[in-house]
Amino acid sequence: MKLKNEPNLDQDLATYPVTPTQPRHKKAAVWVSGLETPEPIVDSTDNLSNATQDEGILEPHSKTASLLTTSFNVVSARNHGITSRLDVKSDQPAESDSEREKSQTKRLTAAVHTIIECIGEDLDREGLRDTPERYAKAMLHFTSGYEENTQDLINGAIFKEDCDELVIVRDIHVSSLCEHHLVPFIGKMDIGYIPNGRVLGLSKFARLAEVFSRRLQNQERLTKQVASCIFELLNPQGIAVVMEASHMCMVMRGVEKVGSTTITSCMLGSMRSNGKAREEFLTLLRRG
Ligand SMILES: [Zn+2]
Repeated sequence: MKLKNEPNLDQDLATYPVTPTQPRHKKAAVWVSGLETPEPIVDSTDNLSNATQDEGILEPHSKTASLLTTSFNVVSARNHGITSRLDVKSDQPAESDSEREKSQTKRLTAAVHTIIECIGEDLDREGLRDTPERYAKAMLHFTSGYEENTQDLINGAIFKEDCDELVIVRDIHVSSLCEHHLVPFIGKMDIGYIPNGRVLGLSKFARLAEVFSRRLQNQERLTKQVASCIFELLNPQGIAVVMEASHMCMVMRGVEKVGSTTITSCMLGSMRSNGKAREEFLTLLRRG
């Protein structure tokens, strides 16, 4: 099934002076603060490979633009679960949106029912009676990003502007679900970009972060998808995305380090190749 108003990918790609090449992946920088050894602890190459599997990797339009691992799937938001979410099996051949949602809620409710039963709780207890259905609806909301198309989202919000100075949107609240444990990670994201004749309406940066965070994620991939998507949509000179988040799977289980946070970053184009541009971005982020 195709997403509504799905963009013509060939046409979109034709607007970018790029040529297909072999996939290459860059490592996202990852630190966990609050732990005793503040060193990079994750080699996220594998995660990033997952993020870009089956996607077309494009060569940067400029040699100075260093490594660009972006893809049309990021923009059309069709990666990971999008198709399956909209193609949930149903007895009805031509299922409407509301019928599909009802069917998803019903199956999820049954699954949560099983979870609570396995925990050993009493499903007839007043407080738990409606919990399976309530949780099912909440889960569909937490993962509603699978049904959104970033191309539609930014439609009409890209403007021609003779601006080549750094633009930063700071402190975007982000909450997502860790794909390993299905528990939340919560934090903030800072996005900075240097335009190249086109700017995006400021509120759209938060909406883009939301679309990608309302999916099962890991922080490395979320950071990279937001950066890649903006890079592809705007074709800016450079883009930098930094995210800091606290993971409930670390706080509530495992190492149980309350207060630890994980920082990830992804820089593309001149933000990656030009030390001065990167330094300006990081200096502005540190301002109170
Ligand atoms: Zn986790």
